Amino acid sequence: MASSCKGLLQCTENPYISIPSFLFGLPTNEFSTMNSFKLLLLTLLLFSQNLFAQSKTTKTEHLVLVTLDGLRWQELFGGADSLLVDDTGMVEKPGSLLGDFWHSDPLVRRAKLFPFVWGTLAQQGQVYGNRYYGAKVDTQNKLWFSYPGYNELLSGSADDSRIRSNDKVPNPNKTFLEYLNEMPAYRNKVMAFGGWDVFPFIINESRSGIPVNSGFTPAIGTALSETEKLLNRLQKEIRGPWESVRLDPFTHHYALEALRNQKPSILYLAYGETDDWAHDGRYDEYLKSANQTDAYLKEIWGTLQADPHYRDKTTLLITVDHGRGTSKESWKSHGADVAGAGQVWLIAIGPDTPPLGEIKQEGQWHSAMLSRTIFRLLGQDYPDGKAAPEWKEILGQTRLK
Ligand SMILES: [Zn+2]
Repeated sequence: MASSCKGLLQCTENPYISIPSFLFGLPTNEFSTMNSFKLLLLTLLLFSQNLFAQSKTTKTEHLVLVTLDGLRWQELFGGADSLLVDDTGMVEKPGSLLGDFWHSDPLVRRAKLFPFVWGTLAQQGQVYGNRYYGAKVDTQNKLWFSYPGYNELLSGSADDSRIRSNDKVPNPNKTFLEYLNEMPAYRNKVMAFGGWDVFPFIINESRSGIPVNSGFTPAIGTALSETEKLLNRLQKEIRGPWESVRLDPFTHHYALEALRNQKPSILYLAYGETDDWAHDGRYDEYLKSANQTDAYLKEIWGTLQADPHYRDKTTLLITVDHGRGTSKESWKSHGADVAGAGQVWLIAIGPDTPPLGEIKQEGQWHSAMLSRTIFRLLGQDYPDGKAAPEWKEILGQTRLK
């Protein structure tokens, strides 16, 4: 078949393809059968990618995952706990929480504690984990502390044989963040911010190449915003009560600056205060931190929805790495020996997620289901075969009515 190509665009004898020969580093007249075969493969690849692009049926292009370390479902769904809210051992000033957070009706109480969750997210999204209705979310791992919880959430399955401590050991498992960062569409568009200084190991920063700003890490780079410069300075001056976890305002504002200025496609944001205040036995600070985080969620969602880059094409998922105990003593703690510490919750809102509101039907979901679900939202197949199945309701393939 005669070629009709001219000029720089060199063609082969194949009537279906028209590829410049410089792609193969060979002059036109040296095309061999092997090169024709390569061209065919390339064409098939381009064709299949085009088919894939056309077959994406979800609207989600960007994703933000937020975690609140160790915040119990009991507070999320019932507000301040009557057992703890005015216990003088847990609250520095007796009575100090009652005005802001107490009401005899738990539905009013929870809206005082989480006004944005119950006023907006529960109206426009989905809220799972209210065990009073039998809507159960649990961790798949049986260890019920942070690293196993985050590993499960981020990788798609529990790994109780290898992830058995909170030590700063690089995660042998790949997270969904790392899988995405390996894909051309998301490369260098994945960022993580956390309060706890173990996140660079959980996300395996050195292997994954994902920048993780956590612990007391400052913002780095040659073009820092004025806000980032101020945060860097204040972070040195305001140390907070803990060695390995910074106060949440730093994590929040570093992440918000990145969202506004760098526009990552995939953002992981891990608040840490709630767990540490609980370990310290400070129910007053635990509640105030939870309430502040609700305001942060409002700011994150408001920022996403105000920006044409993100608006109506971003899914926000909010969850927790583990639960805690329920008694006056065990609420401070969690772990395999604390009953109920594997009970968690999840909130989802986004363009592919029907507004089912608070889920009041019986069901069982697991933290491990998130990774595959996130890939599905982005129109991708999760590459780890052992990961838990997707969370169908978030994807609108609802089993619930
Ligand atoms: Zn934790």
